[in-house]
Amino acid sequence: MLANPDQATVLDFQRHLHRWFAANHRPLPWRSSYEPYQVWIAEIMGQQTQMERVAEYFRRWLDRFPDAAAVAVAPEQALLKAWEGLGYYSRARNIQRAARLLVERHHGQIPADRDQLLALPGIGPYTAAAILSIAFNQPWPLVDANVERLFARLADIDRPLKETATRKRIHALAETLLHRDLPRDHNQGLMELGALVCTPRRPDCPACPVQAHCTALRRDTVEFRPLPTARDKRIDIVMACVILCRGDRFFIQQRLADDIWGGLWEFPGGRLEENETPLAAARREVVEETGWQVERLEPLDTVIHHYTRYRVTLHAFIAALPADAGAARLTAAQQSAWVTAAQLADYPFPAGHRRLAQHLRRQLSGKTGTALTAKKTSRS
Ligand code: SF4
Repeated sequence: MLANPDQATVLDFQRHLHRWFAANHRPLPWRSSYEPYQVWIAEIMGQQTQMERVAEYFRRWLDRFPDAAAVAVAPEQALLKAWEGLGYYSRARNIQRAARLLVERHHGQIPADRDQLLALPGIGPYTAAAILSIAFNQPWPLVDANVERLFARLADIDRPLKETATRKRIHALAETLLHRDLPRDHNQGLMELGALVCTPRRPDCPACPVQAHCTALRRDTVEFRPLPTARDKRIDIVMACVILCRGDRFFIQQRLADDIWGGLWEFPGGRLEENETPLAAARREVVEETGWQVERLEPLDTVIHHYTRYRVTLHAFIAALPADAGAARLTAAQQSAWVTAAQLADYPFPAGHRRLAQHLRRQLSGKTGTALTAKKTSRS
C-alpha cells in the first residue's frame, strides 16, 4: 500500500512509472537535450500554463533568445512581446534580471547548485529543484499540482491539499519514492502521469501504470480525492476603455513601470465606479488619463477575459479625437504613441486590450478608425 510503502513497493512503483514514462512522454522541445537554459525557460513559462501552450511560446522564445546572454541584452519591450499572452509579466522581467546575473557571475551558464540558483530573481525552491533534477539529474523531489493530486489518490489522503500537514505528508512520500539514480525521468514521469492519466476529472485508471499501488482505487474513493475544498469565489470586474483615433492612427499608452502590467501598452480606460454605465466610465477615464474630452463614443466590442479567479468584462468604445484637442496630459502612463492598426502588433498588451487590437487589425482594411461602429461580444 502506497500510504506507507516498504522497499519492495517503492522499487515496483518506480519500475512501472519509468517504463510508462519512456513509452508515453510527450516530445516537448526542451526534452531533446535537457539543456539547462532551456529547462529553466520552460519551467518559468510552465507556471500556471498548459504544456502544449508552453511548447509554442518556448519555440518562439528560443528563436529570439537562444541563451542567457541574448536575454541579458534584449530590449524589455522585445521580451514582453515574446511573453505576450502568457500573463504574469513579472516572470519575463525576472528572467532578464536573472540572465544578467548569470552573465555577470556564471559566464552565462545555469549553475548546478541550489544556493546559487536561489540567489537568482524568479527562482524559488520549486524551480531550483526542477532545474537541478530535470537539467542536471540531481535527486530533488518535485511536487507540482499534478503530483499533489496523484499522491492524494495514491495514498488516499482525506485532508485538504492546502493544509500544511497534508503538504508535509505528500513531500515525505515524494522523497520516499524518488529514484535516486533517475530523478529526471522519475519526476517528469510523475508530472506526466498526473497530467495525462490521473487527471482532475475522470482519471483513466485502467491505463494507469501504478494502479496496483493506488489506495483510492482499492477503496473506491478516487472521485473524492483530492478532498474538494470550497472553491474560490469568482470575482467579476467590469471595465471600459476608449480607442481614440485620428485618421488611420490609434492612441495607445504605456502603463507605469510599477503597475500590475507595468510596461505593457493599452487603450485609456479603467474600472466602472458604482452605478456608472460603461459609456460614462469610458468618457470619465479618457478625461482622467489624458485630459481629453470626447463627446461621441461609439460601442466597438465587449471582451470577456478570465484572469486567475477574476472575470473581466471590458467594454470598448471608439471615438475620433478632434484635431484641436492638443497633447495628452498623461496621468496613468509613462508615454504614449499614435500608431496604425498594423503597428499595434509590435506592442505588448495585456489580454483584453490585445484582443481589441486584434479586432481592429482584422476589421480595418483600408478604413479609418471611425468606420468601426459594430458592437460585438467575444470571449477569451
Ligand atoms: Fe490516479 Fe487512477 Fe492511477 Fe489511482 S489508479 S493513481 S486514481 S489514475
